[in-house]
Amino acid sequence: MPATKAKPTQKSETKQGFADELVTWYIANHRDLPWRDTKNPYHIWLSEIMLQQTQVATVIPYYHRFLDLFPTIQDLAAAPQDQVLKAWEGLGYYARCRNLYKAAQQIVSEHKGVFPKVFEDVHALCGIGRSTAGAIVTFAFDDPHPLMDGNVKRVLCRLYNISEDPGLPTVQTTLWEYSEALLTQTDDAYSYNQAIMELGATLCTTKNPKCLVCPVQSHCSGFAAGTQHELPTKPPKKQTPHLTIGVGVIWHNHKILIQQRPEEGLLGGLWEFPGGKQEADESLEETVAREIKEELGIDVEVQEKIMAVKHAYTHFKITLHAYHCKHKSGKPVSAQKQPWQWVPLEEIPNYAFPKANKKVLEHLLQAKSE
Ligand code: SF4
Repeated sequence: MPATKAKPTQKSETKQGFADELVTWYIANHRDLPWRDTKNPYHIWLSEIMLQQTQVATVIPYYHRFLDLFPTIQDLAAAPQDQVLKAWEGLGYYARCRNLYKAAQQIVSEHKGVFPKVFEDVHALCGIGRSTAGAIVTFAFDDPHPLMDGNVKRVLCRLYNISEDPGLPTVQTTLWEYSEALLTQTDDAYSYNQAIMELGATLCTTKNPKCLVCPVQSHCSGFAAGTQHELPTKPPKKQTPHLTIGVGVIWHNHKILIQQRPEEGLLGGLWEFPGGKQEADESLEETVAREIKEELGIDVEVQEKIMAVKHAYTHFKITLHAYHCKHKSGKPVSAQKQPWQWVPLEEIPNYAFPKANKKVLEHLLQAKSE
């Protein structure tokens, strides 16, 4: 049977008994995760943000370390942003961290440092969408609200055998209606919301869903139709652009020049070695010298190559080529008013660096220690 078009909830689609069966399975089988032992809204919020686009196993050490460094919302709000970004370093999607930090300051200034309890107030905080707000108020305050993270979306597309791209606004509306309707089947919203996410994370996985041991298989239209492996439908794949980047490790008086990226945009607020995109008919050495001149107004002598690093972001890939550079003339003046500093090599690890730059830094530290 082919998959169906998404449509608004109908009586025949209510899947009576689904929520209770799912909750029973969850109570007997769920994983013990640190954010499931708490009703502290700060801890739950932090876990929800860290878990966006990131696996549980990766998040756990970051979660503990972050709470050791910033035990309360007040501690987080009062910390320098550099320190907060450093605690997030390596977790990726840094806008999440900047928004978390801004929201902590909102909570201090607008809510006297107390995490708000009302859904609308939570949703109004920086970086908190409808699903995250729903998760926080359900888990911290037992106020039932539906969820729609990646796991829930995948489960619902299969459960209702929806063939359209779940990114389409009309399909999203329908999915939210289904999510809300299923939640009303139970009085235990906490366990139900945890359970549907747990099902997506452990059994109804992206590849090879484990339908034969699934507690809600009898409700699943995708399984009945044999379409579960094709769902959710992905939008047509675009070709991933590749950028060639040249950066300079600029030395002067045994220090290295590092520059902070603009607040907004990719990797905002992180530090890096200055450089940029290679242009047509330009050697990498010319790229490095030109970018440094444009960004900082200084002349450098590009010397030997340090290494090349490949890295993939969500929408593009880069190969970053790093070169030693000798400062020749000029005092740095950032064209974009980005902060910069001369820093001894061994102190650079105190700054938050993006992954590709960090590999260059690790190489330099390693070479120095040999
Ligand atoms: Fe997912 Fe399979 Fe369970 Fe359906 S039966 S919800 S596809 S694991």
